[in-house]
Amino acid sequence: MVELLYLLLPVAFYAGWRASRKSLSQSQKQQRKLSDNFVKGINFLLSEEPDKALEVFLNNQDIDEYTAETYQLLGNLFRDRGEVDRALRVHQNLISRPSLNAEQKQKAMFLLGKDFFSAGMLDRAESVFRELLNDSSLSRRVSKALICAALRTIYEQTQEWQKAIEAIECYSKNNTENSNTVKSESKKLIAHYYCELADEALHQGKLNKVDDLLLKAKKSFKHSTRLMTLEGDIAYHQKNYKGALKYYSKAIKEDTRLLSMLFTQLEESAKSTANIDILKSDLLKMYQKKKDKSVFETLLILAKKYNGSADIDALIAAELSTQRLNIESIYRASDYTINSVNTLDDKHGLLLVNQALGSYLNGVPAFRCEHCGYKMHDYLWRCPACHEWDSIDHA
Ligand SMILES: [Zn+2]
Repeated sequence: MVELLYLLLPVAFYAGWRASRKSLSQSQKQQRKLSDNFVKGINFLLSEEPDKALEVFLNNQDIDEYTAETYQLLGNLFRDRGEVDRALRVHQNLISRPSLNAEQKQKAMFLLGKDFFSAGMLDRAESVFRELLNDSSLSRRVSKALICAALRTIYEQTQEWQKAIEAIECYSKNNTENSNTVKSESKKLIAHYYCELADEALHQGKLNKVDDLLLKAKKSFKHSTRLMTLEGDIAYHQKNYKGALKYYSKAIKEDTRLLSMLFTQLEESAKSTANIDILKSDLLKMYQKKKDKSVFETLLILAKKYNGSADIDALIAAELSTQRLNIESIYRASDYTINSVNTLDDKHGLLLVNQALGSYLNGVPAFRCEHCGYKMHDYLWRCPACHEWDSIDHA
């Protein structure tokens, strides 16, 4: 409740100041009443009676430009605290005020739409935002971009992807700040939405629509890994393994995070087209370029399952003896080495694993504070984080 008080105190002072400034007796009375009302409202807030406080504030007859903004913020604070009903009451009350100008009402409408959204009343939120967007007298100070962004959030929730595309296009068109970043981010989102539509069409068996939607996604963002994955999935389900391998490989080159998700299909596609060796060699090159542990581990899984090569052995020997790898990579490397028929014999393999474990342990703190969990390399009498004495033990 304290934040509400901070918000309302300046208004109370403002009301008092206005009362003291005016010299006409009738106006003085009115302003005095306004000031008293605020004190009364604040008293209710202090005694944790927000509904009574709301009654006082909302029955206040005199709202001008300054106080209207404070009321808007008061409603927002209620919404942020999860008290959406109160937020709705404040913003609805503002809109019904004849003393507010068109711009203030439009601002209050926008906030009302946000309240409806927070309350999960998406239909009502949508109609409020649409009404604002179609209002030919919409003030320049009410951001069209923000209205479109709010609509986009609604359509994402309702999964109305075509409408989401229109909303993001409207957002991008009307956004004046950082327009290049906004445009490129918008294009990425549009590609996602077209992929969602293509996915839907695919599930409904409307194959004639799919190509068109994928083309639109590509036009919007040709590096979309979502698109490449979807193209790969389509080829894979049509048993076009050559095509699938091409798309999946492209997606992984763009973003190695997809490796674990696509591994099964990737492996199957490579196996069906007798391209496991090419896949391994691609992964090897990719690892040398990016040093990504998921690429290294995938390569070792494939090498163990199918067969290794002198190149892979050399890579393992170099990585285990010179890099600080994580435990999973060391495990994968040892797993491969056990079965290797190439240059790595048992003793050499064991020595490499020993070196890799040594590097790994070098970076692991040996001690830990039992009081706060802080980890450290050396034993200390007193924990540097929580300052507890004699709390350090082996990690
Ligand atoms: Zn501690």
